[in-house]
Amino acid sequence: MTTWRDVLDRRLQHHREQQLERQLIAFETLDATRIRMAGTNRPLVNFSSNDYLGLRSHPKLISAAKITTDFPVTGAGAARLIGGNHPLHEQLESELATFFQRDAAMLFSTGYVANLSVLQALCRRGDVIVQDRLCHASLIDGGRLADGKLLRYRHRDIEHCQTLLEQTAKLRVLATDGVFSMDGDLAPVTALAKLARTLDALFMVDDAHGIGVLGETGSGLLEHAGLSQTEVPLLLGTFGKAFGLAGAFVTGSQVLIDYLRNFARGWIYSTATPLPLVIAQRAALQLVQAEPERRWQLQHNIAYFKQLAEQRLLPLLASDTAIQPLLVGSSAAALQLQAKLQSQGFYVAAIRPPTVPPGTSRLRITLSSEHQQSDIERLVAALAVDIVPA
Ligand SMILES: *Cc1c(COP(=O)(O)O)cnc(C)c1O
Repeated sequence: MTTWRDVLDRRLQHHREQQLERQLIAFETLDATRIRMAGTNRPLVNFSSNDYLGLRSHPKLISAAKITTDFPVTGAGAARLIGGNHPLHEQLESELATFFQRDAAMLFSTGYVANLSVLQALCRRGDVIVQDRLCHASLIDGGRLADGKLLRYRHRDIEHCQTLLEQTAKLRVLATDGVFSMDGDLAPVTALAKLARTLDALFMVDDAHGIGVLGETGSGLLEHAGLSQTEVPLLLGTFGKAFGLAGAFVTGSQVLIDYLRNFARGWIYSTATPLPLVIAQRAALQLVQAEPERRWQLQHNIAYFKQLAEQRLLPLLASDTAIQPLLVGSSAAALQLQAKLQSQGFYVAAIRPPTVPPGTSRLRITLSSEHQQSDIERLVAALAVDIVPA
């Protein structure tokens, strides 16, 4: 007789044989760019963090979190609609709306939950969701969870997108990552916005990796592209990347936020964000605005890395953002390269399917404003030895 244990064992075994098994490793954080595998002595330069501006270790953010020891409560105690709504939640939402120049904003526990909730709330039977094939897992899963039909267009292919959008449907939602999380390239948001307006599709952008980093004031790809709420009615962001914390938000027109407050189940049925985290999120939003030099330094580090990598002919994907993936191919080779770099003092995570399409395993190198020039030089030198054939 086959037991449930046998079934799970066999699935895990299959995953393992394909070099796809995930292993959880504990790391201690030493400073903005240095980590150490728990139980070892050797610091590793971390090139896999999404802490693009070094805010995680910013003294002001740490002290914002510490102030909260004087606070009378920690958790919100309930969901927002059931007494868990504190003035601080509303304060942060109003500050987010102001920063992004949108009517209103709404907090979510995580970006993953926000995408699931938004798509599920918007797309009912007879509606369609059209999205880029390389969208983040949470947009894909949100599309699957929703009752509407999910259609995915070839990466950044406007014509294919148009074909998919030109269907009869009650409501059409067009969704894309702003900065693609595993590739680092940008969605063609100007063309997509135009298409969405022509075909009356609700355009939403998940700019998890653009917010804090792109645009004059750091409000992300839409600021960089000069697109307002009229062109992009729904913008989703997270506090887990450049803001250095955790949590997420949606911002957009009043009608959208009113609608989501009534239908977004991941918001309605989930406990509100704990107040200490809300206080820290407000501080992070302030810091992104108050310290643009972190963004400038990051841009400088990206340009420096690209210049050195190009000199050494490293096979980088086409990206101008902090996400600089190095295409390897097989999962086994990507894991080997990760191990080799680790032995040389770097942590760069190998990214394998199903996070990326089969055969496109890669090292996802991410840069931070806090990396030293010498860190970047040493990483490129180590990669050049291992990657470029002599
Ligand atoms: C990280 C990420 C998310 C998930 O956000 P969490 O707050 O970490 O759950 C969603 N979308 C994109 C594009 C991301 O990169």
